[in-house]
Amino acid sequence: MAWYITCCALTVFHVSFAMSQQSPEKTSAEYLANVNTTLSLDPIRVLDTLMANLNGMAYRCRLDAQWTMRFVSQGCLALTGYASDALVDNKQISWEEITLGEDRLSVREEISAAVAANRNFSVEYRILTCTGQEKWVLERGMAVLDECGEQVLEGFIEDVSERRQAQDAVAHAELRYRHIFEHASEGIFQTTSDGHYLSANMSLARLYGYSSPEKLIADLADIERRLYVDPAQREKFRHLMDTQGEVVNFESEVYRHDGSKIWISENAHSVRDLQGELICYEGTVQDITERRSYQEQLEYQANFDQLTGLPNRNLLNDRLEQAISSAARRGYFLALVFIDLDNFKFINDSLGHVAGDELLVEVAHRLRHSLRTVDTVARQGGDEFVLVLNDHYQVASIISLLERVLQEVSRPIMLMGRDWQVGASLGVALYPTDGEDALTLLKHADIAMYAAKARGRNNFQFFTHEMNRISDERLQLEAAMRVALEQDGFSVAFQPKVDHRRRIVGAEALARWHTADFGTVAPDRFIPIAEETGLIVPLTGIILRKAFAAASKWSKTLGKPLNVAVNLSPRLFLDDKLVGHIAGLISEAGLPPERVELEITESIFIGDSGRTLGILKGLKRLGVSLVMDDFGTGYSSLSYIRRFPLDIIKIDKSLVTGIEHEDDGAMIARAIISMCQSLRKTVVAEGVENQAQFDFLRYQGCDEFQGYLLAKPLPDQEFSDLLIATDGQL
Ligand code: C2E
Ligand code: CA
Ligand code: CA
Repeated sequence: MAWYITCCALTVFHVSFAMSQQSPEKTSAEYLANVNTTLSLDPIRVLDTLMANLNGMAYRCRLDAQWTMRFVSQGCLALTGYASDALVDNKQISWEEITLGEDRLSVREEISAAVAANRNFSVEYRILTCTGQEKWVLERGMAVLDECGEQVLEGFIEDVSERRQAQDAVAHAELRYRHIFEHASEGIFQTTSDGHYLSANMSLARLYGYSSPEKLIADLADIERRLYVDPAQREKFRHLMDTQGEVVNFESEVYRHDGSKIWISENAHSVRDLQGELICYEGTVQDITERRSYQEQLEYQANFDQLTGLPNRNLLNDRLEQAISSAARRGYFLALVFIDLDNFKFINDSLGHVAGDELLVEVAHRLRHSLRTVDTVARQGGDEFVLVLNDHYQVASIISLLERVLQEVSRPIMLMGRDWQVGASLGVALYPTDGEDALTLLKHADIAMYAAKARGRNNFQFFTHEMNRISDERLQLEAAMRVALEQDGFSVAFQPKVDHRRRIVGAEALARWHTADFGTVAPDRFIPIAEETGLIVPLTGIILRKAFAAASKWSKTLGKPLNVAVNLSPRLFLDDKLVGHIAGLISEAGLPPERVELEITESIFIGDSGRTLGILKGLKRLGVSLVMDDFGTGYSSLSYIRRFPLDIIKIDKSLVTGIEHEDDGAMIARAIISMCQSLRKTVVAEGVENQAQFDFLRYQGCDEFQGYLLAKPLPDQEFSDLLIATDGQL
């Protein structure tokens, strides 16, 4: 509206103004009234009012170096701070001077060009007002001939500072946004809904493998097929846009320009005009490849065993749940098999972890290959594996599968250049008979596995409720044992050992446990539990301390020293501190070390470890004697006796039983004794129950004897009493 008025005013002014000369002292209206008497008074007044109220300055000036004003309207004062008079004929100042120095040349060029081309001009520049304020003005006008035929300029100059400021602000803002757009570390894009790029920034170009946004826009014409690895992603993207107007953290795998793939996350929204018509999609893209691969790695780690690549406990539980519901639907059996490798700990310990790992990887491989693809084999941890055998409709097929598994696992495995044989104990629980949920099945398979171990390893056992009872009892015993260890519930019985003249030379210390709930629990029951749970370590500490204390007391009672023998379970040899521990206990008791005998069994030699040898040598250095217990059972390898620093060989009571009837046992016993004599080892026979056995063994050259014939294991006090009563001669 303001513009319309200005234009009108200008046009009227121009038409009339061009017709006559005016005197600058007169107002424009007066002037016009003089020159054009044909105009009625009213329009003149209107024009005058208009001129006075113009937001700007109408002028006529000469085309000279000063832009000498011939006429300026009243707006001059508001625009420049100078009264009209001051400008006309450059009385006080010329328009050239008012024009800001830097802009003068460009103004003159623009106007001169327009004049030469006989066209209107429009030029924006700055002026300095009377008070020194800088203003932006817009000058529009044209060259006309005045009454005298001189070429003059007529035009209008208005203050456009505000608009300029606003424009500048917009330009600034745009610049800032452009800066953000161009320098953002995230990719930024605008696309049409049918997949064409409208704009992209450098980061996006770089992300997608282009050297510039222009190349990206030119090349990536079909987003749906060219960008997304899964073309359905674009449709999903569009669907979200259509229904929700935005996508948030939309993750997809995309192709880069060179064909490589990356993962991106998009955040975008649709841009609509005032009528709600879609203009474009606009959003940001982030490269999340690294995070994705880290995530995948984490997921893998959470579900798979690092070493063997088998599903771990986590994934096993998922698979088991699935298998149970599928078996329930189809009415099939499901077998859950718990596998524990026999002797793994010894191999791992003696050959080292690298060999142990190799063994596990090989076993995992064999297990996987003896199953069908529908079955699962998982590593439960340590040397424990679990099989989930699906879809069996008869138990017979499970049995043949397990036989195959056992066969596979027990095939020799090459480790450190030598063949090793590793067996496995398998426990089986069936769905639905042995449990209807994963937890129960796992528990029952585990119990059955222990039963398989107890049955002599390398076999499988199906779960029975009797096993469950035994297992529960084991748990109760374990709990009771922990309490007994804390409350000094264990005691030691001593069974004398005599020489060939039945003189007491020492005693074997045997653990005894009497409980309020279970009565007297035999060592054959609690020792295995103590070994499996690790409680054997504190238990042995207690037995050693009590045995050493008793032994140092006997030498005073009897006036001559007696030996004391303590059993060391193989489990103790896993502990590096064993030697130091025993040394401490011996010195604590004030016992000469040569009075101490430590009984070990062959199983500590499985794996032929340098470590075991090191520990045995360490014990020898303390000055104690080492006894090979239960000799004649198991492998009874003579090489052990030669290679390891053993002092005493103890013939197992199973060989002694029936020895007087000259059976196989007698032959073996004879061989052992003569061999030990040649190796200068002391031979002890245990389980001697009658005189015939005693005589036979003595005749063969056995050095010492232990058994019910001589005495049963006795409580500490009774043993001391026996020493006094018999004066050490049984
Ligand atoms: P072992 O070391 O072979 O101990 C000898 C076992 O034979 C003892 O059984 C003893 O009571 C029994 N025995 C002794 N003389 C005769 C006999 O003339 N006839 C028969 N039939 N048996 C006889 P016990 O005390 O029940 O111990 C059983 C096993 O428990 C021991 O066998 C040993 O392996 C283990 N054990 C006992 N105490 C300890 C201990 O403190 N630490 C460790 N690691 N094991 C122990
Ligand atoms: Ca023993
Ligand atoms: Ca024994």
